[in-house]
Amino acid sequence: RLTVQVNDQNKRRREILNEFLDLKGNIRVFCRVKPLDSKNSRAPVSSDTRNVIIKLTESKRKTYNFDRVFQPDSSQDDVFLEIEPVIKSVIDGYNACIFAYGQTGTGKTFTMEGLPESPGIVPRAIKALFKQVEQSNHKFVIKFSMLEIYMGNLRDLLVSQGTKPISPIPPSLLIHTDPKGEIDIENLVTLKVTDSDEVFKLYKLGCRSRATAFTNSNSASSRSHCMIRVSITCAGAPERLRERNKIWLVDLGGSERVLKTKATGRRFDEGKAINLSLSALGDVINSLQRKNAHIPYRNSKLTQVLKDSLGQDSKTLMLVHISRKEDDLCETICSLNFATRAKNIHLGQDESKE
Ligand code: ADP
Repeated sequence: RLTVQVNDQNKRRREILNEFLDLKGNIRVFCRVKPLDSKNSRAPVSSDTRNVIIKLTESKRKTYNFDRVFQPDSSQDDVFLEIEPVIKSVIDGYNACIFAYGQTGTGKTFTMEGLPESPGIVPRAIKALFKQVEQSNHKFVIKFSMLEIYMGNLRDLLVSQGTKPISPIPPSLLIHTDPKGEIDIENLVTLKVTDSDEVFKLYKLGCRSRATAFTNSNSASSRSHCMIRVSITCAGAPERLRERNKIWLVDLGGSERVLKTKATGRRFDEGKAINLSLSALGDVINSLQRKNAHIPYRNSKLTQVLKDSLGQDSKTLMLVHISRKEDDLCETICSLNFATRAKNIHLGQDESKE
């Protein structure tokens, strides 16, 4: 039985890789539905492997189609099985970008970072990357950087030792485009790493340096975008042929609309900055999907940083997180609408229950 399962997984891996290598399918949008906290809660949201169905009224349903929907009982293994080919594509010479999008509390950090007993995409991706490098005939150099975008400014998370806030907040790092079209972030700490344990240590240090890590808020991750960059250079190739490929793993700030929350003061400003950059990201992805001549990368730091990893040959994966709770329905619909713009997702017919 185990052999059958492994064969099935390998078959699925090959299918996903082929889908990703198909140039028509460079942006994929997946959805992950968070389990309800209580079995007794009413849930106007249901799903199957490709669709999310919203019950708008007793007689009206709306269906959103995705490349893949992870059910409330999907495991971290199930998620990573679909993600792994993106990691493979980096070794094969592509840039890639994986985002977790959604309202605060819907499981973005759970998906990206996971828990010690249930690791998420970041630790699994790092391990998979090192494993693939080990198995390759070529010699690769791997480098790691970590930054956050807080209130519209880039903050390098590897400059401090992570024991106290970086104070004062360093001036925003400058972003340049080099002659090859690659994005260069001035003075961003980029460390050569030789194994996954080294990366995990740096990752923990980086998390401790986040601007929001020093407040008494349990929603620290909702107030800035946390971005990890792993770049890979094939060391054996002649200098002029050396390609540097990279993957960005991004835990986006919470997408809840700040005007609808009761936030005031700094919290309001943080939410506003996040809303602006998420909307700029949506505009860029939408323009790429429509193959517009002008792609509005310059409208936010988030899209400027990711310019050479979004579009063209890059592989982009957006994981939209939603809640099933009735109280969250408005935000869930907003996230599903964002996903619809991000990909020309086919929006199912509104259905009426007989
Ligand atoms: P976000 O990063 O979107 O604000 P979190 O990842 O912090 O949300 O998730 C909020 C809580 O819900 C955490 O305690 C997390 O462990 C739990 N959680 C989220 N998604 C799942 C899931 N798919 N299965 C089990 N627990 C989850």
